[in-house]
Amino acid sequence: MIIVLKQTASKANIENLIDEIKSKGLSINYSEGETSTIVGVIGDTTRLDVDDLEKLPYVENVKRVSEPYKAANRKMHPDDTIVKVTDTVSIGEGKFNVIAGPCSVESEEQVIEVAKRVKAAGATLLRGGAFKPRTSPYSFQGLEADGIKLLLEARKETGLPIVTEIMNINHLELFSDVDVIQVGARNMQNFDLLKELGKCDKPILLKRGLANTIEEWLMSAEYIMAGGNKNVILCERGIRTFETYTRNTLDISAVPVLKNLTHLPIIVDPSHATGMRWLVPPLAKTAVAAGADGLMIEVHNNPAKALCDGAQSIDPDAFDELMKDIKRRVEFEGKTLG
Ligand code: PEP
Ligand code: MN
Repeated sequence: MIIVLKQTASKANIENLIDEIKSKGLSINYSEGETSTIVGVIGDTTRLDVDDLEKLPYVENVKRVSEPYKAANRKMHPDDTIVKVTDTVSIGEGKFNVIAGPCSVESEEQVIEVAKRVKAAGATLLRGGAFKPRTSPYSFQGLEADGIKLLLEARKETGLPIVTEIMNINHLELFSDVDVIQVGARNMQNFDLLKELGKCDKPILLKRGLANTIEEWLMSAEYIMAGGNKNVILCERGIRTFETYTRNTLDISAVPVLKNLTHLPIIVDPSHATGMRWLVPPLAKTAVAAGADGLMIEVHNNPAKALCDGAQSIDPDAFDELMKDIKRRVEFEGKTLG
C-alpha cells in the first residue's frame, strides 16, 4: 500500500502515522522526495482501511498495490480449493460438475421427474428454489419449507445432492440437511447473512451480484471465509450492462480472471445470464472452454408451464442433447464429468 502525504504534513504527523502502522505488525518504506512524501506499507495490509487513512488531513491519497482479500487470494493459497460436497461429489480440480434442476420446486412429481432426468443425463447435483427472490411481491414466492422437503425427497430417490437458496438467516435450521447453500445475486452483499454462513461448514454457492465487480464478489467470499468456512464456490450468472437483448450479460472473462485471482472453484449459470433457452447451450459450451469448474442450468419438465423462469428453462430432452456435447468438450479440456 502506498500512502502519499500532503506537503503540509508535519514531522509529528508522519511519526504518528508510522507508529500506528508499525503497531499493526507492518513495515514501512519511507521516502521523502522534493515534491511529495511517500509511506510504503509492507506486509498484510488487508486489515488497513483505505478510508481510515484518507480521512487524515495530512494524507493526499492512498493506493492499494495488493488485493484487500486474503483467505480467497490465490497468492496466499496457490493450490486450487476442492469443495467436497459428499463422499462422491467434489467441485474443482479436474472434475466438471453440472448442477441442474428447476428454477423453483413446484410439486413432488415435478422435482422428482426432473431430478431423474438430469441425473440420467449426467448432472451431479440437483438445484431447485424453495425460497424465491422475485422482483414482484405478487409473483410465486416458492414453496418455502415444503420445497426443501421435496428436494430431500428427490435426493432420496436419485442420490443427487441438493443446492437451494437461502434468503433469510433465520431459516438456516431448515437448511440443515441441504448439501450446498446458495446465496443468490440479490444477497451477495448481505453481510450479516454471509457472516452467519461463515460459521457453518456447509459448501456455499455464492452467486455474483447483479452489478458487482469481481473484487466486491471476492470480498463477499472473504466474509464467509473469514468466519471459518472455506467451502465457497463462485457462480458467474451475468451482470447488468447497457445491453437489453439478454436478461444479463454473461461476463465470461470473469472465469479466467478469477482463476488467476483466487483458488476457489468457479461455475457458470448460463440460464440467468441470458434469460432465453436458446442461448443456454452456446454459453454453456463457452464456459467449458473458459476453464469453469461446472455449470448451473435450469431444467423444467414443462417450461411453458413453469412458475418461474420458464423462458430460460430447457426441457429434459434438450438437456440430454446438451450434456452429450458438454461431455465431449469437458474431455477435450482434460477433465471428467462429475
Ligand atoms: C436462482 O439461481 O434461482 C436465482 C434466483 O439466481 P440469481 O440469484 O442469479 O438471480
Ligand atoms: Mn431462476
